[in-house]
Amino acid sequence: MIDLDVFKHVNDTLGVEGGDCLLKLVAERLEANLPRDALLARQNADEFLILLRAIRNSFEPTLIAEKLLTALQERFVIGQELIHLSGSIGVTLAPADGTDAESLIRKADMAMSQAKQAGKNRVKFFAQEYEAIANQRLSIRNSLRSALTNQEFFVEFQPKVRIQGEREIIGSEALLRWVRSDGSRISPLQFIPIAEEYGFINEIGEWVIASVCEQLAQWRNEGCVLMPVAINISLHQLLQENFVDILRFNLMTRDLPTHLLEIEITESALMQEIERTTQLLGTLQELGIHVAIDDFGTGYSSFSYLKHLPVETLKIDKTFIDDMLKSPRDNALVRTLIQLAHTLGMKVVAEGVETHASLSALIELGCDQVQGFIFSKPISASELCTLACP
Ligand SMILES: [Mg+2]
Repeated sequence: MIDLDVFKHVNDTLGVEGGDCLLKLVAERLEANLPRDALLARQNADEFLILLRAIRNSFEPTLIAEKLLTALQERFVIGQELIHLSGSIGVTLAPADGTDAESLIRKADMAMSQAKQAGKNRVKFFAQEYEAIANQRLSIRNSLRSALTNQEFFVEFQPKVRIQGEREIIGSEALLRWVRSDGSRISPLQFIPIAEEYGFINEIGEWVIASVCEQLAQWRNEGCVLMPVAINISLHQLLQENFVDILRFNLMTRDLPTHLLEIEITESALMQEIERTTQLLGTLQELGIHVAIDDFGTGYSSFSYLKHLPVETLKIDKTFIDDMLKSPRDNALVRTLIQLAHTLGMKVVAEGVETHASLSALIELGCDQVQGFIFSKPISASELCTLACP
């Protein structure tokens, strides 16, 4: 089973007709790269099924699948548009994985889904453990629906600490938590991608924005020190039509100044739709809402875009911080990232700082702020209020 990785975007830009035209071209290209006796069918939307009738050796399916992926990567031309595609392939083998079409297709789908989650543009063969993973994903998807109404979500806050000059907490990052009614705790790393895939992310995202604003108002009423709170935003959420209005509404109805809210968006999300996001981030900046690029260094930033981005902060991913002390090269890399950010007039936050050695190194390299267990794990709203009290 093969599924195109970014087809939805194509439909958005080319319209449904252009999308259909592209599907035909994809089918032709797939067919041209298949053995003569193979059967190619469109399963649904941007998903194709391929049946290889007689396999001569165990390498053959891999070779064919990789040939298909390579063929897909050559650009497509529709009218004036050049389209770049990739695909994710899941493979099942009969009789090892099943002997009827239904179970072979179902398992190919699970393998394909694993190929997507592993980073797309790759081939995965069905493995027994995918069944358990698929069941768990299904269970998460089903309970996500009711999680909001059952009040199973809550927010924790991880302090951001200034490390140059006088050391103090200067803000926090809001982190969404989910404890299901049966007491099981599900990591955001697990449920956020599922929420995105099944279209729950905007609703959940709006809940987070409202909760954080409500908390800010409550801190103000309780006389706590008011500091900016950063909220993680997915690309989908940022691009929803009324995103800026939602932020504005939540701040205004509680009479909160805009600088108390910050947006964090990952580098890879930002780069996917760089032109639209740059424009939106500009609107946020005009409003006084700061923006941070999250997990910086893990995506593929184009420097020419970076200099135009209306962004106040770069957050360096934990993996760089962890490796920083292990080798001079990693240390040099962090130093360069910090210099780059400062040259562009941005502040730098290091994430996941756990040891005194990393902290000293970061102070020395000129890093502005850190987050991490060295100062505090994510804590409740009242704990943060106590901790931030002068
Ligand atoms: Mg973040």
